[in-house]
Amino acid sequence: MSPKIISSWVGMTKTDAAVQTLSDINPDVVLESYTLNITTVKGFETFMESLTNKNFRSNMHGSGVDLVLSCVDNYEARMVVNQACNELNQTWMESGVSEDAVSGHIQLLIPGETACFACAPPLVVASGVDERTLKREGVCAASLPTTMGVVAGLLVQNTLKYLLKFGQVSPYLGYNALKDYFPTMEMRPNPQCSNSACMERQKEFILAKPARDAAAKAQMEAEASAGTTECPIHTDNEWNISVVDDNEMESSSGHNNSAALPEGLVHELPNADEFQKPPMQEQIDDVSNDLEDLRKQLDALNAGL
Ligand SMILES: [Zn+2]
Repeated sequence: MSPKIISSWVGMTKTDAAVQTLSDINPDVVLESYTLNITTVKGFETFMESLTNKNFRSNMHGSGVDLVLSCVDNYEARMVVNQACNELNQTWMESGVSEDAVSGHIQLLIPGETACFACAPPLVVASGVDERTLKREGVCAASLPTTMGVVAGLLVQNTLKYLLKFGQVSPYLGYNALKDYFPTMEMRPNPQCSNSACMERQKEFILAKPARDAAAKAQMEAEASAGTTECPIHTDNEWNISVVDDNEMESSSGHNNSAALPEGLVHELPNADEFQKPPMQEQIDDVSNDLEDLRKQLDALNAGL
């Protein structure tokens, strides 16, 4: 980052600095910024209002946004994003970097369909220890901007795939920077999740299964019928390209077509067919005789029993 950009951020909130930088990069994008603590009651209300605000997508069903990206740095804030998205049935992507800054992850959360953040809580929280009590006084979490840059890149890549509908959207992708290891997995919702909104979304997802199956079947049938009426991709043949059968190619380039050579030219090497075959027949006969002997001995033994 150039010193000029960084010095222009002095005295600004992170959100305002982000808006300014993004506007400079792409002035065509309309940006709305909120600077608030979403873990307070008032902050949560404002957060919910920002998600249901349909200034940009007036005809959208449900919330006013396509996808929520979470890049917060603590468990409490993640749980708040989780609560809001479960209540609004809003798909979101979570991302994070570990405290030692050498690993991270991204995760796709679709309410009712995949595990929510409360379905599979981190071990520390599952064991009942308050996360805040683990923070050591005066010790700052490690920071490695490269790890954050990689995780941010993975999150944006997954976002593009999701919004533009290409490739496979990762349900969960981890990043272990020490070993360059990228684990992936799918996480189903926990039928005993402690989040009541998650449980409601799970019920809705199960109830909607027949409709989903019917839609999938209709799509498969439509694709199958489209495949049978496929037309040639290129109707004209500007370069007179023709397809030749492989068998035809082999027979035309066979060894016995010396007549095809221009007058005065002969093959320098003998044709492969002219090589004498090694005398294998004798060996095969020997093996057959041995087998015959063995069979006779076996018959004699069986007769003796
Ligand atoms: Zn859940």
